[in-house]
Amino acid sequence: MLTRFLPLVGCLLSYTLVPSAAAQSCGSQGIALQVLGSGGPELQDKRASSSYLVWENGQARVLIDAGGGSALRFGESGAQMSQLDVILFSHFHIDHSGDFAALIMSSWFEDRKRPLAIYGPQGNGFMPSTTEFVSDLFGAKQGAYRYLSELFVPGEQGSYKLQPHVVVVGSTPVAVFRSGDLAVSAVRVVHAAVPALAWRVEAGGKAIVFSGDTNGEGEGLVRLAKNADLFIAHNAVPEGATGVERSLHMPPSVIGQIAKDANVKRLVLSHRMLRTLGKEDQTQAEIKKRYLGPVLSQTTLTALA
Ligand SMILES: [Zn+2]
Repeated sequence: MLTRFLPLVGCLLSYTLVPSAAAQSCGSQGIALQVLGSGGPELQDKRASSSYLVWENGQARVLIDAGGGSALRFGESGAQMSQLDVILFSHFHIDHSGDFAALIMSSWFEDRKRPLAIYGPQGNGFMPSTTEFVSDLFGAKQGAYRYLSELFVPGEQGSYKLQPHVVVVGSTPVAVFRSGDLAVSAVRVVHAAVPALAWRVEAGGKAIVFSGDTNGEGEGLVRLAKNADLFIAHNAVPEGATGVERSLHMPPSVIGQIAKDANVKRLVLSHRMLRTLGKEDQTQAEIKKRYLGPVLSQTTLTALA
């Protein structure tokens, strides 16, 4: 079993693992992925819930998801909300979005002037759309945190504005956002009845793909992850999962097959839950039947990552 130990809030460079003590922030040169939260919704996993940062040359440029605990990890990372070009949501389950308001509150104390783009899925009867989600928090009339509506409502005197966008895509990757050398694309993925997206972030000649939560059905994720330098897959259920669990999440065999079909250079297992923690040998064995590249599984020393 190949297990690598990452520091608590470690940086995962495209080719090298470096201890967080080595730098105030990740990726002072080039592109780095930082796992802010590798847990699921259970607090007993002792991890922050899903959240990732993509750094470029020491700047935190993209935040993907903001599950519970990620705001603290964001602060520990040395990142600034004013550095971000964009926030991407895979979907709006609490373990992917619960700390969003805390991050925005912190940004109020920074000197951000430019708008902050936010992209995420459309809604349905079960979930808000990305625009509704932001409005439900910061809208002037009904927002739970309407005292901060200046950061959302046009015409109010906020230092900057949140700009949410709904992404409607199918299984063919679509370009969603571009800023300088940063390019972001998405596909729809199947996560039971929850509208959900997988994301590909390209910058500095590297491509990092985030599965988000998905049961792995369809061709979209393989297309999106094609030849990626890093593929972050959510390892929320063990092999043999059935029922609701399986309709929401992909077992290790499916992760391995997608990593193989997409020819990704490295695979990172995240969104660990109590039902997959402690099953690393079985998980790795299922993946290795299909995907022969390196697999990074944060299991022990990264419990707080
Ligand atoms: Zn979910």
